[in-house]
Amino acid sequence: MVTNGAQTTVAFCGHCGARPRARPGLAAPSRVCSACELGLILRAAPAAAPAAREAFLVIGAGREIGAVSDRAERLLGVGEAEAVNRDLAEFLAPDAERPADWARLVEAIPRLATGAAPLPALLVRCTHAPGRPLRARLGACGPPPAALLVLDDRD
Ligand SMILES: [Zn+2]
Repeated sequence: MVTNGAQTTVAFCGHCGARPRARPGLAAPSRVCSACELGLILRAAPAAAPAAREAFLVIGAGREIGAVSDRAERLLGVGEAEAVNRDLAEFLAPDAERPADWARLVEAIPRLATGAAPLPALLVRCTHAPGRPLRARLGACGPPPAALLVLDDRD
């Protein structure tokens, strides 16, 4: 945990979701994850940050994909390299019974970097395997400032 002014954040890897351990004696912690050596370390509020096994996406203000976690790659059926810079709507879609959730999600993404309130409980579908709804929560992460969408496909 690092306290930055009034806001406490936790660090996590943008690829595998691992939480880096503080290593006393290192002046500047590495920005590359020491667990998978693939992801960059991001920070988010504790309620927004993914747990170790949750799938997540980092999304830019224009709704473009910035990063896809390894679990999200499997969930969405797309590799990160293929997904980056494409529109979120290519991979996720409204849930038929909760279309307002999608509208709130799309509306909040561009504003998260400038302090919009996070959305803790959304329901969406993935376009790859639309049979089952996904619980999702939207928060902010960075650097650089971006939206963080955590997906949960467990029943
Ligand atoms: Zn990692």
